[in-house]
Amino acid sequence: MQYISTRGAAPAVDFVTACLAGLAPDGGLYIPESWPQIAPARPEESYIDVATRILSAFAGDAMDVETVRGLCEKAYGEFAHHSVAPLVQAGPNHFIMELHHGPTLAFKDVAMQFIAQLYDHALTLRGERMSVVCATSGDTGGAAAAAFAGARSVDLFILHPHERVSPVQRLFMTTTGAPNVHNFAVDSDFDACQAMVKAMFADRAFAASVGLSGVNSINWARIAAQAVYYATAQAALGPERALRFVVPSGNMGDALAGYVAARCGLLAGFEAVCAVNENRALETLFSTGQMRRQESLATPSPAMDITVPSNFERILFEASGRDPEVVRSVYETYSRSGSAALPERVRGPLSCTGLSAQSVRNAETLAEMARYFDETGTLICPHTAVGTHIARQLPVSEALTVTLSTAHAAKFPETVSEVTGQAVPLPARCAGLSETAEVFRRFPNDLEQIRGAIEAAGTGQ
Ligand SMILES: *Cc1c(COP(=O)(O)O)cnc(C)c1O
Repeated sequence: MQYISTRGAAPAVDFVTACLAGLAPDGGLYIPESWPQIAPARPEESYIDVATRILSAFAGDAMDVETVRGLCEKAYGEFAHHSVAPLVQAGPNHFIMELHHGPTLAFKDVAMQFIAQLYDHALTLRGERMSVVCATSGDTGGAAAAAFAGARSVDLFILHPHERVSPVQRLFMTTTGAPNVHNFAVDSDFDACQAMVKAMFADRAFAASVGLSGVNSINWARIAAQAVYYATAQAALGPERALRFVVPSGNMGDALAGYVAARCGLLAGFEAVCAVNENRALETLFSTGQMRRQESLATPSPAMDITVPSNFERILFEASGRDPEVVRSVYETYSRSGSAALPERVRGPLSCTGLSAQSVRNAETLAEMARYFDETGTLICPHTAVGTHIARQLPVSEALTVTLSTAHAAKFPETVSEVTGQAVPLPARCAGLSETAEVFRRFPNDLEQIRGAIEAAGTGQ
């Protein structure tokens, strides 16, 4: 099982190497050389069983099945719900897949828990150490902190914009108590944090000296781990049943995982609507084939305030008939001029991928949170509401609609109480969060100081 780059100028590598690298050296994204065919999940299989089968197929010769099972048991054993991704009914022909039963109440836990186990196992085996650096606007940092806390072979550095993440989001990052988790609060915004991380990766000498690695949503391990819950949903709702997924989307990693599950034979058919907020880059891409650089707008669903959906590159690669020339030319044009048009010949195949995108206005998102509570007595987070709003608008179909719930309402208590008048306490398992001492260091918006701190704390020591 080999992984190739969407830009076609990097050597093929095995699963572990692709995952530890994150981005391919030619700037492309790793994708399997061919899609493994995997037997669909059976209703009687546990989540860990299904995850073991699927992730073993993606790992190929790089890891044996028992090793993968061990990683999955550690990753998913601690979820608050033993089904990991349980389904609840929202209405006639409409189910919600709850992906927020992990330690930080967001779907990012599902992949991050696995990736941390994978990194620690692979690096310990190789006798290596890595510095994982991530910039976060909220959820990714917490999920990474919870997952990597206590890892033997990884130092985690999280850059978050000081006083610009919600209190709950900050607590999840800063209260692990683990000496290998380093929180940096930067006096700037998320874009500045992300720019610093990019600059660190671009500096090859620095990256090599600290063993720099990234676990953002383009990392193949995240996509692979997310494919699992599409398979378990199919098994639970009926192996032959046509499903239509609605996926609250930002970087499109979650929706891409559904496409991957379908290509590997895990689904009866495939249709997924990427539900986006007023940052409608994905909708524009699917409907007009235009990619344009834009300012991001602040919305009630901040984890989806994304203007360059990074995983689209993999879909473009597929729609082009796996032609790296097309991918390179589109992204080079885009980075040079700030806009690019998809070539006419990929538009048809793109519309046959089963993927599409629709956007929702902020006011509709908020109204949906109130309406959903009225109808079901259940509070949902604003990201999930972008999805359920779209699910309501879909044309009647034979297919059963499954909306992915990407975060717990308690992660966004301010918005929830504003629109529904309801207080939403943290689940009991997180109740101690606000009593734990926070550990973070504050930094000015200065790359040199941050690099110095990473060198001092990480492998450069
Ligand atoms: C990250 C995130 C998303 C978007 O997921 P992508 O894989 O980037 O499309 C949606 N909802 C929540 C709550 C998130 O944290």
